Amino acid sequence: MPQPSSPHDPLGTSLITAVGRGLRRRCPCCGQGILFHGFLSLNSACSACALPLGHFRADDAPPYFVILIVGHLVVFLAFALERAYSPPLWLHAAIWAPVIGTLVYLLLPRIKGAVIAVLWKFQTRDQDPYPDP
Ligand SMILES: [Zn+2]
Repeated sequence: MPQPSSPHDPLGTSLITAVGRGLRRRCPCCGQGILFHGFLSLNSACSACALPLGHFRADDAPPYFVILIVGHLVVFLAFALERAYSPPLWLHAAIWAPVIGTLVYLLLPRIKGAVIAVLWKFQTRDQDPYPDP
C-alpha cells in the first residue's frame, strides 16, 4: 500500500472517513478545522492543518444532491399524506414548504462538505484548462 507523502496526502484517509468529516462540516484531511465561514462560503485553508481548501469547487453538485434527496422524500411523504387523509392543497403547502426549507437548510452545507471531501480524496482541484503559454 502506498504511503502518504505529505500531511495533506489523501492516501492515508479512507473515502468513508473523509466523507464523514465533510458531512460534519469539518476538514476532510484532519477532521478538526471547520470548512465554512458563514453558511456555504469555503474557508481558504483549514485552521488546524492548513490544507488549502479554496481550490476545491463543488459547483452545482451539492444543490443537485439536495434536490434529489429532498425531492424524493417530500414527494413520497406528500403522496402518502394525500392517500391517507386527502387534505386540501393549502394544507399541503403549509406543511411541505417549511419542511422543504428546513431540510434544504440542514442538508446543503453537509452535502457540500461531503462533496468537498470527495474532491479532496480524488485531488480534483480547480485548474485553469487553458493556461497562459
Ligand atoms: Zn484540516
